[in-house]
Amino acid sequence: MKIVCIGRNYGDHARELGNAVPDEPVVFLKPPSALIPRNGPINLPAFSTDVHHEIELVYTIARRNGRAVADKVTIGLDLTARDVQQELKSKGLPWEKAKSFDGSAYVADAFTALESFPSSGHTIEFMLKKNGQVVQSGHSGQMIFPVDALIAHVERYMTLEPGDLIFTGTPAGVGGLADGDWLEGYLLGELLFELAVEGPTSQR
Ligand code: ZN
Repeated sequence: MKIVCIGRNYGDHARELGNAVPDEPVVFLKPPSALIPRNGPINLPAFSTDVHHEIELVYTIARRNGRAVADKVTIGLDLTARDVQQELKSKGLPWEKAKSFDGSAYVADAFTALESFPSSGHTIEFMLKKNGQVVQSGHSGQMIFPVDALIAHVERYMTLEPGDLIFTGTPAGVGGLADGDWLEGYLLGELLFELAVEGPTSQR
């Protein structure tokens, strides 16, 4: 199973980090070891002092008639060591140290089949609260590249297999996490996860 992630897929988020809106999807990977166990907690790594939350729609991949398709949707967190990422970006280096560390991804376990939506153009709303305040909200209609276009683009480079996950980018409002924070993720108004944040407990 692989975890494919898309960067800068919401114009308001690309702009808040001072990035140009891309003319093709920005793609990176997380390893399976990035996944946070069910119900958490989030353990902040010691190598960063600025780990950001990014709430995202996450789709599972299925294959039908020889083609990869989005099958089910949920929400997840793409945790990003923003200080590390800025340094890597400034040197033109890949982002793995900032994006792919153990504990850098959470995926809610309640998936909704896309078939259950009335049309493929249905708008899927999602939201993140930190300590009871809404910090990020968005919907699928705001994506620069919709999920079908993302899948087609990724498959130009690598095969997507059944059970693979694709994180589809985050809307504006990303921000830092601290020991004691409490996160709640919502999909279509329904609370799908609650996670505690704990400060660094290891030397990593
Ligand atoms: Zn992201």
